[in-house]
Amino acid sequence: LVSRKKKTDDTVVEINGETVGAGGPTFVFGPCSVESYEQVAAVAASIQAKGLKLIRGGAYKPRTSPYDFQGLGLEGLKILKQISKEYGLAVVTEIVTPAHIEEALDYIDVIQIGARNMQNFELLKAVGSTDKPVLLKRGLAATIDEFIHAAEYIMSQGNQNIMLCERGIRTYEKATRNTLDISAVPILKQETHLPVFVDVTHSTGRRDLLLPCAKAAIAIGADGVMAEVHPDPSVALSDSQQQMDIPEFDAFYNEIQKFLKQY
Ligand code: PEP
Ligand code: MN
Repeated sequence: LVSRKKKTDDTVVEINGETVGAGGPTFVFGPCSVESYEQVAAVAASIQAKGLKLIRGGAYKPRTSPYDFQGLGLEGLKILKQISKEYGLAVVTEIVTPAHIEEALDYIDVIQIGARNMQNFELLKAVGSTDKPVLLKRGLAATIDEFIHAAEYIMSQGNQNIMLCERGIRTYEKATRNTLDISAVPILKQETHLPVFVDVTHSTGRRDLLLPCAKAAIAIGADGVMAEVHPDPSVALSDSQQQMDIPEFDAFYNEIQKFLKQY
């Protein structure tokens, strides 16, 4: 169902007036984790000021260690909903278990499936049975073929609104947190009709690489870019090494706008 052979025209996913997959790249910015209303609001104000329509933030955090911050859960979803109303932003947030879906639907606009859950097939089937747009991230060590099959699991249940997200894969390279597989973008665009995002934060794990990798993503044909922004990354409860602060975000976005004008 997700194959280009089945449907030659591009799937366009509409979210809050944004047409993902048509009319230029869509940007998803926001903190790694929802930590407080004030923290998310500071980022939301900056996103809104840029005329953007989406915000991300994790309420359920799949952390490597069980002793690390696990997210605010339902409380985090409530904060996101309030922000959504006040700033006119659609919310992209990760859901980690089918048990949370029903409850989450009222609070969120896009269900993110994280890299660690790309092959959680029961979760894929459960989100496939909803009509919420889904942002599916590539698994930590998933091949492109496995990634496409994960999207197929979702669509096989009826949900057509799927966006793919390349977020780096595990290789022997240590210079970056993961290795951004930039060629996955045109391959996914050729093989499927779905919009493709690049997450420059989790792929690189390096602030100095966010801008060049975002430019590369756009140049190679990505439909969207995701990056993390936190009002004070040094005190962030997750991913403090790689989130942009607000001035860095402003500079990043200005550079991207200049780059887009060349097209
Ligand atoms: C995230 O986007 O919040 C996240 C945890 O990313 P990933 O699943 O790609 O590691
Ligand atoms: Mn993160």
